[in-house]
Amino acid sequence: MHIGIVGLGLIGGSLALDWRRAGHQVIGVSRQAQTVAQALEQGIIDAGSTDLALVSSCRVVVLCVPLHQMLAVAQAVCPHLHPDAILTDVGSVKAPFVQALTPLWPGFIGGHPMAGTAEQGIAAAQMGLFRQRPYVLTPTPQTRPDHLACLKELVAQLEAKVILCEAETHDRAVAWISHLPIWVSAALIGAYAQEPDPCVSQLAQQLASSGWRDTTRIGGGNPELGVGLAECNREYLLRGLRRYQTELHRLIQLIEAQDRPALTAYLQHTQQVRQQMTIPP
Ligand code: NAP
Repeated sequence: MHIGIVGLGLIGGSLALDWRRAGHQVIGVSRQAQTVAQALEQGIIDAGSTDLALVSSCRVVVLCVPLHQMLAVAQAVCPHLHPDAILTDVGSVKAPFVQALTPLWPGFIGGHPMAGTAEQGIAAAQMGLFRQRPYVLTPTPQTRPDHLACLKELVAQLEAKVILCEAETHDRAVAWISHLPIWVSAALIGAYAQEPDPCVSQLAQQLASSGWRDTTRIGGGNPELGVGLAECNREYLLRGLRRYQTELHRLIQLIEAQDRPALTAYLQHTQQVRQQMTIPP
């Protein structure tokens, strides 16, 4: 099958690598000629260009551009699509794009592979990135069953696990487990960065270990992605941040009051909630 990837970065490049390995012809379009050249040189794509017209032969076209570019790129690509083409995206927020793109292209199905790294750009693309990871698809009642079946098969070839859900439900769920943690982690780094004593800050760096590494990894990632999430999933991210603020406020009060039983009960509760969550590996 001819698959078009628009936006050759971490996610677009990684999809291209896996689908090419599965035997598909992968056509890549990106903004910069040097990115296309690099993708060709590294065998990530079969053919490439900065011209969106190149995807006109593709049965499936995947938009892998940053969130703030998604709508404009979708509008620009639609005139080039084969009439029977399936258009999908990998954006980390779904409802605004499903609402905007479905009227634009009836063969649009929202998608979100739940995998990534803190890196960005074509150099960060890697084979097997989506293996054993959830890959969300958000079909609507208007979605053609054969289109959905085709996308599910392509996702299966990534060895990812397909999860079907409504776009809005997706956005509410990822606000908790992905978008809120990014901003909480960023705030943690921001708070540390305000330590006024350079000796303390330097010693903290020397002593930092897995706890700091785990809790700050996502706050130190791609700024374009985090800002895109704050813009596109604003309502649910704000809900999460406000709830988090309330919890922090409560914890400050308990620690100030040296309320050992309440603090213990709090951590016992969070320990239990965490243990009961079945988090994919
Ligand atoms: P990325 O590494 O920065 O890649 C995006 C690529 O899009 C850039 O390399 C850029 O290529 C290209 N691009 C930008 N504007 C373009 C345009 N107007 N036309 C064509 N290409 C354009 O970002 P990413 O992490 O892959 O994220 C891409 C999408 O995946 C986002 O929508 C994000 O929400 C979603 N996503 C990200 C993750 C993650 O963890 N990173 C996980 C799941 C989903 P040039 O080099 O040519 O400028």
